[in-house]
Formats: sequence, structure tokens, C-alpha cells
Amino acid sequence: MRQTIARIHLDIYRDNIRAMREAIGPDVKLMAVVKSNAYGHGLVQIAQAAQEEQVDFLAVAIAEEGVILRQAGIDVPILVLEGLSAQSTRQAVLYGLTLTVHTKEHVQNAYAASKECGKPADVHLKLDTGMNRIGVKDKEEIPQLLDLLATMPQVRLRGAFTHFACADNADQGMTDAQLARFFKMIELLPKGLLLHAGASSAALMRPDTRFSMVRVGIALYGYPPVQTKVKLRPVLSWETEIIHVKEIRPGDSVSYGATMTANRPRKVATLAVGYGDGYKRLLSNKVSVLINGKRCPVLGTICMDQTMVDITDAGPVEIGSRAVLIGRDGEEEITAEELANIAATISYEVLLSISSRVPRTYHNEL
Ligand SMILES: *Cc1c(COP(=O)(O)O)cnc(C)c1O
Repeated sequence: MRQTIARIHLDIYRDNIRAMREAIGPDVKLMAVVKSNAYGHGLVQIAQAAQEEQVDFLAVAIAEEGVILRQAGIDVPILVLEGLSAQSTRQAVLYGLTLTVHTKEHVQNAYAASKECGKPADVHLKLDTGMNRIGVKDKEEIPQLLDLLATMPQVRLRGAFTHFACADNADQGMTDAQLARFFKMIELLPKGLLLHAGASSAALMRPDTRFSMVRVGIALYGYPPVQTKVKLRPVLSWETEIIHVKEIRPGDSVSYGATMTANRPRKVATLAVGYGDGYKRLLSNKVSVLINGKRCPVLGTICMDQTMVDITDAGPVEIGSRAVLIGRDGEEEITAEELANIAATISYEVLLSISSRVPRTYHNEL
């Protein structure tokens, strides 16, 4: 096993699902978003935990992710969040995935695929209320799509949804405007559809956007993008080991480009992690790690495979000692949010940056 690992605490993920369920109440369904390898946590393991917690739906971004889940025996309904090509639609229908449609082509693809596979195709209609990414933008197009669907009984319209652009903003004006447009659009749809709009932020902050279901990703991994009383804890911790220890003298510099020069004697440890593992080079000279429960600043440039840290005040350290990049050690904690702030990005991207060369280990302390 490599010295650098990401620990995935499935018990915490399951606790977060329960906390979210309690927050949204018994009348709102929960869709757990597991796209992009479950935000770096491991697609199948996270989906299995979600299935055990009886989430109502899973969401993936691309057909291939859904196929992997079906092949792993996941039988929860799975929504593919984007409109697919003809070929991917066929794959999705074959594996019983629910499709997103927002153009005539998507509906026709669904029809062709359902005929070819001899299986009905369940679809959700994506409505663009202001994100301007994907979806039906013009409400005049809705009756045309409904007319087309009426000619294709194998293609079953089961839901409709939209996505908010600014749900985590203090100013909720944009969300209000999008919500108003969503209401106008869903008036044109048949009754009884599964309606959904909110992702993590709106699910937590805006009960009026919950409709029949919420689509929650990041909050279930423990990083709610908005202030909340709901108890959500980080699911992932990231650890590495010390592979070398040395003393440096005043005037000695550390790492590529000599961006850090010591002005007093220091004890320096080299860690078995670098930007090849997704420990972003942008964090050089800015971020800390936890060793013996103490914050140890990174010294100099983060290399592809190694990183140096100042352990002068860290107490006893030897080869093989543990260093925490994300996670808790004693009283101290470093979160993906902290790394994201330093790197001018968001927790999502930090979690997703942890590269595939970092083995994930799974823990379930139930
Ligand atoms: C990714 C995504 C979500 C989940 O968003 P979070 O902020 O992680 O909860 C929900 N809906 C759509 C359409 C998405 O693309």
C-alpha cells in the first residue's frame, strides 16, 4: 500500500444522508449525486452506501457512470443529468437509466433506443430557468416536446427539473427569478411528475425550492456550501507519511526555484505526496499539514511526488510518521474548504483533484 491514501468514512457519509433526510422532511425525496467518481470518493462504494440508506435516486453526469453502477448491482433509480448522444442513450436505456431530455433530438434518441432495446425509456425534462447551461429555455418549446412525447408511449415522461446558478449567494434574487420561471414552465406540464430544482445549497437554505425531490452532492460529502445547522461532517481524509527528515541552516533554501530560504535553523520533513497526487502546486509556501496534531507549514514549492514541511515545532517525528493533508489530528483540523480558499477554488475541485494514484480505503464504523 502506498504511504499516501484517502480514507473514505462511509459511516460519516451515511450519517450525513440521515441528517439531510431529517432536514428536508419525510415528504421530499432525496437524490444522492455521485457523478465524477462520487466527487473523488469512489463511485461504487458511495453508491452502495447510499443504496443501503435507501436514497430515492442516484444522479450521475454521464451514461458510463450509470452503467458501472448497474454492473455493480446497484438497482436504485439513476438519473443521468445531461442530454446524451444517440449511442450513449442506447447504453443508458439498456441499463435502465433515467434520461435527461431537453431537445427533440434527445426525445427521438430515447424513442429509437427504447425500440431497439425493447425497453421503455424513462425521461426527465430539463428546464433552463437562467443557468444557461442546458435545458429548454423557451417555454413555447414545451408543448412541442409534449406533442412529440405523446406519439411515443415507450418514452415515459416521469420528471422535470431545473438548476440554480446562485443558490449559495447571500442575495437570493437570482434564485427567486429562476424559481418564478420554473413555476411558469411546470404549469405547462402534466400533473404527477417528479419535480426537482435544488442542489445542496437550495436544499438547505430554501425549503420553497424542494418540490418532490432535492439533488444533493457536496453536502453529503460534508461540505455544505452555505451556513447550516444540519450536522454534516467531511467524509474524506487525506494522509501521507514522512519519508525523510533533516536539519537546514540559515541561508539554505528548499525545493525548486528556491522560493523559501531559512533565516534560522529548522527541522524539515519530506512527505510522500505532491501535485501528481493532486496536492496542488498553487498551495506551495501557503498551506500547512498536521503532524502530531500540530500545524506544519509547507516549505517551498510542492514537487510532483514530494513536499517539504517545517517540523521544527512538531515534536518527535520519524520516518513513517503520519501527516494529515485533509482531516483531523487531535484538536486541529484541515478541511478541503481551507485548501480551496488558498487555491482560490471550491471544495468540490479540491476533492476531485485527488488523483487516481492515491488509493482510497473504506471505513465503516457503524
Ligand atoms: C452536480 C449537480 C448537482 C449537485 O450539486 P451539489 O452542489 O454538489 O449538491 C445537482 N444538480 C445538478 C444538475 C448538478 O449538475
